[in-house]
Amino acid sequence: MSTCAIVGINWGDEGKGRMVDLLTEQYDVVVRYQGGGNAGHTVINDKGKFALHLLPSGIFRPGVVNVLGNGVALDAENLWNEMQQVISQGVPLTPDNLKISSRASLLLPWHRQLDGLEEARLADKQYGSTKQGIAPFYSDKYQKKTVLAGELFYPEKLKEHLADLLEWKNLTLTRVYGAPAVTMEELLEWVNDYGEKIKPYICDTGAYLRDAYKQDKRILFEAQLGSLRDLDFGIVPYTTSSNPVAAYAPVGSGLTNARVEDVIGVVKAYSTCVGEGPFTCEMFGEEADKLREAGFEYGAKTGRPRRVGPIDIVATRYGVEVQGATEIALTKLDVLSYLDKIPVCTRYKLYGELTDEFPFPSALPDAEPVTEYLEGWKTDISSCRKWEDLPKAAQDYVLYVEERIGCFIKYVSVGPERDSIIIR
Ligand code: GDP
Repeated sequence: MSTCAIVGINWGDEGKGRMVDLLTEQYDVVVRYQGGGNAGHTVINDKGKFALHLLPSGIFRPGVVNVLGNGVALDAENLWNEMQQVISQGVPLTPDNLKISSRASLLLPWHRQLDGLEEARLADKQYGSTKQGIAPFYSDKYQKKTVLAGELFYPEKLKEHLADLLEWKNLTLTRVYGAPAVTMEELLEWVNDYGEKIKPYICDTGAYLRDAYKQDKRILFEAQLGSLRDLDFGIVPYTTSSNPVAAYAPVGSGLTNARVEDVIGVVKAYSTCVGEGPFTCEMFGEEADKLREAGFEYGAKTGRPRRVGPIDIVATRYGVEVQGATEIALTKLDVLSYLDKIPVCTRYKLYGELTDEFPFPSALPDAEPVTEYLEGWKTDISSCRKWEDLPKAAQDYVLYVEERIGCFIKYVSVGPERDSIIIR
């Protein structure tokens, strides 16, 4: 029996997609257990370059079964478009290698619309939403006002359910936001169109997974975003509206009887953050521009320039603990090769005291970074494939981070390609 979760330790965009793509070789099933089309995983392999938003990153491996669990925000329109894109690039998708949980709730067009309306209302106090409808979707889910994918198989009952939801949702749209009401025709057209398209892939994935687990199939849980974006443990309210922590994987995947044995935490060799909220280690000016360019730090979904900074030991150690990471994949080490000295945010200064503890969200904006510098290696490391190939200064950097965050760094990634990896 083998279960493993690949999770982000920081703000997301750590390079989880490339790690899942690399490790899927060792797994039979890959499951997405939370989130929706709001984040992107970039995967580069022999079939090309792919920006995945909803599809599990195991779809490129023949024989791997990919599951969208009950915990995801099932945006049928975006999913269908993504499926067509991937198929056009030569990746086969069939009900045999892609399964959608009948218990996943549908993200409806009004969720995206409400996301935009609320961000506009917030004006200069925006949460930095990607406007993919994720927050309105999960709010509705917890109010039990969403449609389960499996309801598509009961069209008459679904129609009644949709009519009730429409009446309720139009109150918010028209009276709170002054937006036009959605008509039943518009709603039905969307549901019928995209619902029919994804219907062949919908099944009882909980039963499928329990069965696979009993048969000792190796199951990989794939998370989106990272610890600091977790709804309960992240930098509230600048979080996502679901739980990227590994502890949620059994619930969000539908494999509630499983324990996650291994948790691979993905950490980038420096920090990036998309959107609003405290980002203690943030760099500015020319220093930031150089790092952003070197790492090509622009959002996979939005194209927004990412905020950048040195690795943040305080936030990363917290992320490791919250995730219960059993080993770490350190990505993009190659990006730091241009630096003479490598900056590291080693501690925070908070209310006049030095601290190693990650502060409560209310205090976090008051924290200041304490930056120290390690020796740079100033040489291209992207062709290194063995630990011994890395220059001493690069090894020292990895060992320093490992010691400070308290978790073994098993993988060191030195490029985006599948084989650009050092396994210790
Ligand atoms: P994810 O959401 O955690 O999968 O991260 P993203 O896909 O947003 O960001 C990772 C980006 O970095 C992608 O463009 C990857 O191809 C790229 N990448 C991943 N690992 C490495 C690495 O070790 N070196 C370099 N140069 N790029 C990498």
